[in-house]
Formats: sequence, C-alpha cells, structure tokens
Amino acid sequence: MALTSAEQLVRRLRTTFESGRTRDLDWRRDQLRSLSRMLRDNEGALLAALAEDLGKPRFEAWAGDIAASAAEADHLRKRLGGWAKDSSARMPMAFLPARASIRHEPRGVVLVIAPWNYPVYLLATPLAAALAAGNAVVCKPSELAPATSALVTRLAGEYLDPSAVVFVEGGVEDTTALLEQRFDHILYTGNGTVGRIVAEAAARHLTPTTLELGGKSPAIVDRDANLKQAASRVAFAKWSNAGQTCIAVDHVWVHHDVHDELVDRLATEVRARYGDDPRQSPDFGRIVNERHAARIGGLLDAGGYDEVVAGGTVDVADRYVAPTILTGVKPDAALMGEEIFGPVLPVLGFGDISEPIAHVNAGEHPLALYVFSRHNVDRVLEQTTSGGACVNDTMMQVFPPSLPFGGVGASGYGAYHGKWGFETFSHRRAVFRRPSFFVEPALAKAPYTAVKERIA
Ligand code: NAD
Repeated sequence: MALTSAEQLVRRLRTTFESGRTRDLDWRRDQLRSLSRMLRDNEGALLAALAEDLGKPRFEAWAGDIAASAAEADHLRKRLGGWAKDSSARMPMAFLPARASIRHEPRGVVLVIAPWNYPVYLLATPLAAALAAGNAVVCKPSELAPATSALVTRLAGEYLDPSAVVFVEGGVEDTTALLEQRFDHILYTGNGTVGRIVAEAAARHLTPTTLELGGKSPAIVDRDANLKQAASRVAFAKWSNAGQTCIAVDHVWVHHDVHDELVDRLATEVRARYGDDPRQSPDFGRIVNERHAARIGGLLDAGGYDEVVAGGTVDVADRYVAPTILTGVKPDAALMGEEIFGPVLPVLGFGDISEPIAHVNAGEHPLALYVFSRHNVDRVLEQTTSGGACVNDTMMQVFPPSLPFGGVGASGYGAYHGKWGFETFSHRRAVFRRPSFFVEPALAKAPYTAVKERIA
C-alpha cells in the first residue's frame, strides 16, 4: 500500500467518523450482528482457510477462532447500550449544585493489527470492541496466514459497512505505510520487537496504544497438586494449535517429588490425544511456516536438556514438530531464552517453591502464569506478576468476558475483552455542568479579593 493510499484511506474513514454515523448505537449493533453473522455463515470457508494456513484441526479452529469471536461480538452487542450511557459522578459539597458526568465517546479512527496464530479471533475480537465503542476501523490481518487474510478481507467487504470498516492486506511495507498515519488508537497483537516499532510510530502522533504481546508463560506444579488434572490441562495449553498460542504453557516447573509421575502423565496425555503417530492425527496442527519450524528445530538442536521423553521429531518441509517433552532442562538452555511458540515442552524440577518464583521474577513478566497447588497458590500469586493467571487450570482466563485480557511489562499493556474492550476503544470525557443561575464562585474571579486574605 502506497503512503498516499494509506493517507486517503484514513481521511475517508475520518470523514465517515466525523459524520457521526458510527456513534449511532443502532449502527454499532448492526455492525456487530453482521460480524457475528459473517463468522457463522462462512464457517466452512473459514475452517478451510485456517486448515490451509495452519493445518488447524477443525474443532480447534471452530472453537478458538470462529465461535469465540462470534460470542464476543454477541456479548458486546447485547451490553453496549448500558455501557455507552453517561454515568454521573459524585460532586463534592463545594461544587454543588453543579452536576458532573462521564461520557464514553468513541476515539475516532482506530487501527487493529493482528497476528497469524488465531488469525480470525485476534482480528475479530478487537474489531468488535472498536465497533461497540463507535469507531471507524482499519484492520490489518497477518500476511503469514494468507488464505485467512484474503477470506476475511473479502467477507468484511460483503458484511460490514465499507464506509467505516476497511481491511488492508499486505506485509511489513503496508503496515509501515499505515503506521505513518495518525490514528486515534492502535491495538497491536504480536511479538515484542514489532510491538516496539508500533509504539514508536504511534508516539509520533501521540496515539494511545494497546500492545498484546507474548512471553514465556510458566506452569508451576507443586508436590500437593492434582497431577492428573495438571497433566491434562498443561497438555491442552501446550499442544492445541501446536503450541502457537500466546497464553500457551511455555515450560513447566515441577516439584522433584512428583516430577516422574507428572512426566509419565504428560506422555500419556500425548498418546491419548494424538495417538502413537501425532503426524497422522487430524487433531494436531502444523507450524505456520518453514521458518518457524526450523527455528523450533534449532532450539531443540541447541540442547541444554537430558532426555527427550516424547516426540523430538521436526520435519521442516511438512511444517511438523511433534508434541515433545524434554526433561532435565537447564535454566540457561536456548529453549529457556525465548518464547518457544511451538509444541515443545521443557520440564524443570524444583525442590522449593521459591525456585520457580525466583525464575519468574528474574525474567520478563509473562503473559500468563499457571499454578497447580493446594498450599502455595497465594504465595505464588503474591510474589510474582503476569498478564493473567489460572489456578489449577490453563488458558481459561481468556474466555470470561468479565476478565480483562492483556499483558504487563514485556507481555504488553492495556487490555480488552467484554467491557474492557469497550473501555479501551472509548475516551472517557469528564463533563461538569454548572446551572446557569449559579453565582460565579469567588475563587474563579480575579482579583480574588474575597479569598486572597485567607492565604497566609
Ligand atoms: P506476525 O508476524 O503475524 O505479526 C503481527 C503483525 O505485525 C502482522 O500484521 C504483520 O504485518 C505486522 N508486522 C510484522 N513485522 C512488522 C514490521 N516490521 N513493521 C510493522 N508491522 C509489522 O505475528 P507474530 O508477531 O509472529 O505473532 C506471534 C507473537 O505474538 C508471539 O510472541 C505471541 O506470544 C504473540 N501473541 C500475543 C497475543 C496476545 O493476545 N497477547 C496473541 C497472539 C500472539
């Protein structure tokens, strides 16, 4: 996209926004209804595109991309009327009989930049929040999921108001051209390196941003945990979408006393879920591209662990990385240096809960933290921080719309989902109303004679 067309596009959306069209609550509800319908009417085509881009298993694609996005759009549509109402603010005695209120106003023209791993969900849910708040929206799908990007762009043109919602396909050059423009908010989901590029570009226009980034999210399994549950829930978070989930379990810390049992149970989970040859399983996905498959293979080749308990196979041409469990992993292994973002699970042992806590605190704040314990839950939560957390479960923090979804520190800033998304894409405007009959207070009128003498 040339710079001039990016400029024209934003100017066109700004004209729509300034016309007041997108502020109308019925327009917002219509758009959200259409977005939900777009997803449900085109399930088959979306599933095919997700399979082409990521080898996404049908159920995972349906649940994680399509149903979850439609549910968010429906939730926002039903609630936005209440959220959009002005709320009154309490007045201190000194200001009475004035009244004050807070108006939720749309920010204006906003930009949503999405990644490839949940290429529908991570585009549709921020879009839904931006629409609920009454904005005009530019959406930039990820070029690394090209089939999905092309499909959602075509469908958006058919289902959504083209004067207010525009999808822009393309790569770095196109995103760069968009980032030159002045937006009123940018929500970016992806890696931290690009997150910094987005934040710098936004800063030139003083544009507020929400950065949804990643990190090394640990699971901590204590000696008193329910190991069957822990193994099953870690397996879900590590191997669905072949580990390419921002809130996936990156690695596991397990108490020495229950290490072997947990590892056995994890290996059993792999077989129960994907059979003896996961490559043949219709329920196990592929890595997004050969570059990422080779990157994960490189992390395995770099060593820093004792044993491959399960998996270990990488076929770059097939974009296949087997569900893999590694034990005896050293904290300084290459695998522990960056977000794995693949189906490889390093397992590290600990003797005292203070060890994983210290490790979490020595690194960047993770997007998620999972603790399986009876007695040390509060200690872990109190002595660490993360974007979100689950106790005796994994990934569930993402689903209830009552919970804000977002990172902290290097895993990002700002949040969305449910009302939090509406708030993110709204400006809270403070309005103070003085009745016209009211006499002007002395402290607002120079030369302030009546109040000056009170100053020492
Ligand atoms: P990606 O490569 O698809 O990039 C995301 C977007 O950034 C794309 O639209 C792309 O066009 C754009 N982009 C890439 N390079 C750019 C550049 N130089 N300048 C401007 N724009 C550019 O996705 P990714 O970053 O590989 O996604 C994986 C990462 O995202 C992981 O770290 C993961 O943890 C994180 N993630 C976070 C969340 C969350 O909600 N917090 C969700 C999913 C993924």
